[in-house]
Amino acid sequence: MTANPSKKASYFYHLDRDNKLCWLGDNWNKFAIENKGGEKVLAENLKGKSLWSQIKDDETRQIYLDLVNKVRKTGNSLRVKAYCDTPALKRELKIIISPLPEDGIRFESIFIKLTPRKRLAILDKDVPRSENFIKICSFCKDIKIKENQWKTTEKAVDHLDLFNQKILPQLTHSICPSCYKNLI
Ligand SMILES: [Zn+2]
Repeated sequence: MTANPSKKASYFYHLDRDNKLCWLGDNWNKFAIENKGGEKVLAENLKGKSLWSQIKDDETRQIYLDLVNKVRKTGNSLRVKAYCDTPALKRELKIIISPLPEDGIRFESIFIKLTPRKRLAILDKDVPRSENFIKICSFCKDIKIKENQWKTTEKAVDHLDLFNQKILPQLTHSICPSCYKNLI
């Protein structure tokens, strides 16, 4: 069973001027375990690593880099809406990216809305996967169903008939056109 963070739970981490993770909040490990990230994402193993090494896809990495650079340049905080969903729970997050002294950056992720739903195996990290890939947006969790067409996770599962597939495709992270437009 996946543990659910309480509503309004928030998680923090700081980057130094070289974008290395230099501080993670006390409850980081609780969050990492709930999200089945494994030992490599525990605070003691992340400290000193570049944030970029933790983001697998180039597009998402570039967006975060642009956002962090914008915060450093303007000195103003940015707020980003995102989802960090589990198979049976839609979890809306507010991510606040703020400047710190000496070109540091503070990330704060606050869970603002948790919505239970019918379980979606496609989001379960433990289910077997085929060699095929489908793209999921890192921010809103919409899934790409064909060129220039993205649908909510539920609708995409329906559209791609994923409920009836024994082995599911792998998810690869990307960014959908509408999140790209909102973030850049
Ligand atoms: Zn999106």
